[in-house]
Amino acid sequence: MFSPRIDGSPSERAIGKVVCVGRNYAEHAKELNNPIPSQPILFMKPAASVVDMAEPLTIPQQQGSVHHELEIALLIGKPLSQASEADCAAAIQAVGLALDLTLRDVQDALKQKGHPWERAKGFDGACPVSEFVGADQISDWNNMPLQLVRNGKLQQDGNSRDMLFPVLPLLAHISSVFSLQPGDLILTGTPAGVGPLLSGDRLEAQLGDLIRVSTEVL
Ligand code: ZN
Repeated sequence: MFSPRIDGSPSERAIGKVVCVGRNYAEHAKELNNPIPSQPILFMKPAASVVDMAEPLTIPQQQGSVHHELEIALLIGKPLSQASEADCAAAIQAVGLALDLTLRDVQDALKQKGHPWERAKGFDGACPVSEFVGADQISDWNNMPLQLVRNGKLQQDGNSRDMLFPVLPLLAHISSVFSLQPGDLILTGTPAGVGPLLSGDRLEAQLGDLIRVSTEVL
């Protein structure tokens, strides 16, 4: 089980389930030729998929392309169920970055058959996470820039202001579907610019001036 670092110190609590939202940025939905959803598309990754983004990343081989999706991650600090937006705001303990690694060819085949996405999204190592910063360092949930540079080229450049379902309404909605426990992680969707990772890639991810992490793909 993986315990995140928060403001430089190890958390004593391991990350639990990871609840993810698909297509939360219109430009990303468009780039994969998907319709804009009328309610959040939710799926989960298991706790065992979480790894340290700062360590070299191991990606699956022989299963087609593995895409990077850089996302803002919310670490939950209090139980949430059928919660109001105010309760949700008070329950976010910390914020970080995550890569929602996706076996894109596998996912495309699953989507065609109408099957669940977990085979494409839940493999070991499918959820690298950065260090976290305390939620008190976020002044505006709807203005958080995130960027991913791959091999020196800016690949993803987004801002939470472009979310179709913004952080607090999204979290309130999720809490009406799944009870959330301390240690659970929410991945809030990826902006446009997703693409395949290759062995030897060097990645730099950034959340405003709060978090910066470098890594490589083995
Ligand atoms: Zn994603």
